[in-house]
Amino acid sequence: MPELSQDQFEAKLPHKPPATVEELRQRANSGGAAAMEASRKRLNSLKAARGGEKTEDVAAVAVAAGGSRGPRKSSVTFQEDSSKSVAVAPKQLHHYDSFVHGYKRQISHRIFVNRSLHLENIKFYGFDMDYTIAEYKSPQYEQLGFNLVKERLVTLGYPVEILQFEYDPSFPVRGLWFDSLYGNLLKVDAYGNILVCVHGFEFLKHSQVYELYPNKFLQLDESRVYVLNTLFNLPETYLLACLVDFFTNSPQYAEQVDKTGVKYGELFMSFRSIFQDVRGAVDWVHIYGDLKKKTLENLDEYVKKDERLPMVLSRIRESGAKLFLLTNSDYNFTDKIMTFLFDFPHGAKPEEPHRDWKTYFDTIVVDARKPLFFGEGTILRQVDTTTGALRVGTHMGPLQVNQVYSGGSCDVFTKLIGAKGKDVLYVGDHIFGDILKSKKIRGWRTFLIIPELVQELHVWTDKCQLFAELQRLDVKLGDLYKNLDSSAKEKPDISSVRTCIRDVTHKMDLAYGMMGSLFRSGSRQTFFSSQVVRYADLYAATIMNLMYYPFSYMFRAPAMLLPHESTVAHEQRFTLDAPMIQRTRSKNPGTPNDQPAAAGLEEDCKEVSAITERDLHLLSVSGNVSVPHTRPETPRSVTHTHDEDYSDEDSDDQKKNGAAARRRASSSASSDKESSDKNK
Ligand SMILES: [Mg+2]
Repeated sequence: MPELSQDQFEAKLPHKPPATVEELRQRANSGGAAAMEASRKRLNSLKAARGGEKTEDVAAVAVAAGGSRGPRKSSVTFQEDSSKSVAVAPKQLHHYDSFVHGYKRQISHRIFVNRSLHLENIKFYGFDMDYTIAEYKSPQYEQLGFNLVKERLVTLGYPVEILQFEYDPSFPVRGLWFDSLYGNLLKVDAYGNILVCVHGFEFLKHSQVYELYPNKFLQLDESRVYVLNTLFNLPETYLLACLVDFFTNSPQYAEQVDKTGVKYGELFMSFRSIFQDVRGAVDWVHIYGDLKKKTLENLDEYVKKDERLPMVLSRIRESGAKLFLLTNSDYNFTDKIMTFLFDFPHGAKPEEPHRDWKTYFDTIVVDARKPLFFGEGTILRQVDTTTGALRVGTHMGPLQVNQVYSGGSCDVFTKLIGAKGKDVLYVGDHIFGDILKSKKIRGWRTFLIIPELVQELHVWTDKCQLFAELQRLDVKLGDLYKNLDSSAKEKPDISSVRTCIRDVTHKMDLAYGMMGSLFRSGSRQTFFSSQVVRYADLYAATIMNLMYYPFSYMFRAPAMLLPHESTVAHEQRFTLDAPMIQRTRSKNPGTPNDQPAAAGLEEDCKEVSAITERDLHLLSVSGNVSVPHTRPETPRSVTHTHDEDYSDEDSDDQKKNGAAARRRASSSASSDKESSDKNK
């Protein structure tokens, strides 16, 4: 195989963009030649598996699978563009994808997995309402909230000029931190390292960020930082930027020397006080203001309605599981929203008559006050569904179908419905109130709804060329240092590649919006990402995606790769120069390392038992205090339970099955021996 440069390798491809993510990774790992070789091997094996079809055809498909993405429509509505792949070779494409990646549901139907979860084990499906069952239309709903908060601030004494601000959906992203000391919106990584810092509408440069934040880092101190976690926070995220910009740049206000606020004559206005006013106004608009009223007056304008909803919920019940609704909204609002969402002439199926929304749930709890619900909670009361009023006294159970309850606590609630932590899959949109608390305190399995995934996946796939470009630049950078080691005196000029990497990364970020992606900034993952990975077992753009999986489904989490794993392909050879500590135990030093693991384990176990028995005997003879275990015993069955959904029963079953298999193997081996002896 001749050595090819990356450019030569690229030139050989029918299309510029590379074929698949693996292809990209291989290229980045090993340069063009090795990637070409890996690609050829994979394609040949695919050819063999498919009965000797032409490699060239498959290669074309490989490129089509990931590489033939042209410019898309600018619409943010997520639709998979199947036309391009269909035009190339739909059958081969499907075969190729299934073969290389395994069968996957279409992207818009997908549920993504952080921790494996077997749906069969779920006995209760709990749902939040706002932004989970009821998705509010963006940007109309944010626009409404934004305008109402502005108006409230003006009534509190803010200048009327702020009414001129118009909501710009391309600016805010969820999960930002607001630093109330300096009035900055910060996009941070999992640890508080600042990725983007914006003061008003001004994006601060590196040096400015360092000036305010030593080491570009900020501790998550709740007295200073507010995490704008929810979709309800989007209007205030943008409004904070508007107000900080207004007060910082309007000539009548002077910035305070310590940068913590502005002065207007003798009046000092700290960024903290602006933040507190905005927070108060947002809460006021939600609780006492017109937000709910205006939403209910124009439900079609603000709430998404999906005909599949009754069917999804009814299929969950048909699977044998129970359903509950657990929302922070009050009964009257919940009832109106849910009535609208289920307002179809049909029921769960087209031929079935319409049913009241409450009949789809076994238990309904409103005014839940999550996250308080997962801790001490409040008093559990029954709601009079004709008036919406709460009945006097604490409801002591049992919980009745078709009744609505208010408040309570998770403790009481789960006892009344008879649920254990792992039996419950709770579906919500609030990373803190719904997901973090239910998992941390109650051990519920969690399913996070992230409506932004539609836009995120659109950019992720649509901007394929930018991602490919970045990979190409990484390869170029690697090439510049190729064949140079610590003896090198020359210094390659990497300035142009560096500039290009910065520009492409910037373009990639901006493709998501002005603050970039919800999940990442360049190659770094955001604080929000880390929360999702840590607390959400599953996540998807909508609950409707439950429709596309059977209730026996085993969700398997993909491996989370570290840099030494993501940049080193399994196929690459890596031989040890020097011997190292043997991690696997072997009785005979001459036994090859690649012997079957089970056989090795069994040998180990026998050996360990023999040693332990002998040692114990010696110790008891000598009369010394005996050591219970002289060395750790090699596990006889799976003990590394990294998969959350395994139970002890699974392990025991596996053990039994393993033992049975071993017995079968040994009896067949002995019968083989007998027959061979007879033949002698
Ligand atoms: Mg919600």
